[in-house]
Amino acid sequence: MIRPILFLAFLVLYIPAFAAHYTGKQGQIIVVKIPASGPITNIEGAFRNRKVYFFLNEKSEFVGLLGIDLKDKPGTYPINIDISYNINSGLEAQRLTYKVAVERENFHVEYFTVPMEKVTLTPKATQRANGERQQVRDTLNDESSEKLWNRDFVIPVKGRQSGVFGSYRVINGQPRSPHNGEDIAAPVGTEVLATNNGQVRMTVDHFFSGKGIYLDHGLGLYSMYFHLSEILVKEGEFVRAGQVIGRVGKTGRVTGPHLHWAVRLNGAYVNPFALTELGF
Ligand SMILES: [Zn+2]
Repeated sequence: MIRPILFLAFLVLYIPAFAAHYTGKQGQIIVVKIPASGPITNIEGAFRNRKVYFFLNEKSEFVGLLGIDLKDKPGTYPINIDISYNINSGLEAQRLTYKVAVERENFHVEYFTVPMEKVTLTPKATQRANGERQQVRDTLNDESSEKLWNRDFVIPVKGRQSGVFGSYRVINGQPRSPHNGEDIAAPVGTEVLATNNGQVRMTVDHFFSGKGIYLDHGLGLYSMYFHLSEILVKEGEFVRAGQVIGRVGKTGRVTGPHLHWAVRLNGAYVNPFALTELGF
């Protein structure tokens, strides 16, 4: 009977205080901080079946970046955080549950009526695009647990923002997939910089996205750079924040030269500019 009481006393020491509630809009990143200390062996969160990784910041707080997908429906969901402690050579576990309120973002909607043959892909193109979508899904679902990035994220191209994150088109009454990145307009050949340290996980030449680079920054964070004219890195290569990795182009299905910059965090597509505004 002594053991549970001791354990409770420990927990009070380990978790002195925590926010009980988080709020964020669709496509945003919520910084979750756990002021935990002691003999922690593992800490891991789950939000809507997506894994949330935690790391230590300079203040010895455990920080998790919780990505709210642009398609997460507004509502309140739990984030469960499981903490394992090594106490007296035995493992003890604790679960913290916080509420996360997902708020609606007013994404831009455009309505179009066009002849069907203009928007319908050929069976061959459909097959190719589906295969490529699966290839991307498989790659992005493979999350590496080593954190390569640091807190200063670089905007990959200086230019005019020409596409709005989360906006979507309704063509002939059918809503299309929302725009899951930001477009930055710049002339063909403009240098594209890596937003942070990472490893080149995949380079592609795809039907929709054209020449593209997928950077794996670790802990479930990926950044993507599409429609390039040139890819200047190789798969498996490690890159530094600010390193030139490619050049702006207009490959794939585009109307003009621009960079499509997208970020996936723990399985959620988030606004890439949210990375440049993080405080932790
Ligand atoms: Zn785009």
